[in-house]
Amino acid sequence: MNSVPYLDIHTHRREYLPGSVSVACLSFSELSTGKTSGEFISAGIHPWWVEDYSSEEIFQLKKAILQLLKDKKLWAIGETGIDRVYPEHLDTQKELFLWHMDLAQEWGLPLIIHSVRAYSDILQMMKEHKPKTPWIFHDFRGNEIVMKDLLRIHPDCYFSFGLSLDNSLQIRELLPLIPVERLLLETDEQKHLDIHDIYLRASEALRMDVDFLKSQLWLNFKRLQVTL
Ligand SMILES: [Zn+2]
Repeated sequence: MNSVPYLDIHTHRREYLPGSVSVACLSFSELSTGKTSGEFISAGIHPWWVEDYSSEEIFQLKKAILQLLKDKKLWAIGETGIDRVYPEHLDTQKELFLWHMDLAQEWGLPLIIHSVRAYSDILQMMKEHKPKTPWIFHDFRGNEIVMKDLLRIHPDCYFSFGLSLDNSLQIRELLPLIPVERLLLETDEQKHLDIHDIYLRASEALRMDVDFLKSQLWLNFKRLQVTL
């Protein structure tokens, strides 16, 4: 009998499985209306939103995030980050990423990061800003070298995986190279795989018992909650 919950570190889904604990990432409408639910919440401005919304709307989102922080409702800042598939907004994305980075630092909270083809930008910003709180790379798609570079500059990094365990051999091969105390799992926007499936995929790739994996990741979650 293993009573440790399944941990889903980053999800946009709102139906939670029994025996699981999720960190709910707020949607644009949840942030705008202030309607939040769930024990563990993260809020941030997704880099894609820079393309979809006006600067006035982004300004209102920033205000909403600051309010949630003052109300002590946030477990983490994000997701935020840089997505080079949308390079026309790169400067605004970087500016917003910095804003989130400073908030995480100021409030002593973990930062949940979306990075697409942007690890070198993020490494550079990491070097300049020397983060002190944990950085969680959600849906990590880098390789072993990138993972080691990130950990060298900021040892308090975590790498989270979800759908890629199902559709990327490269990621399944990378998984055993990630120190288990730096590993997390997530459903993100997944509709077809639930968090139990993701743990199963990870345990196969790691050749590790699911219950053992659950207890390891739960320890990681406990460690993440020890903030500044
Ligand atoms: Zn996400």
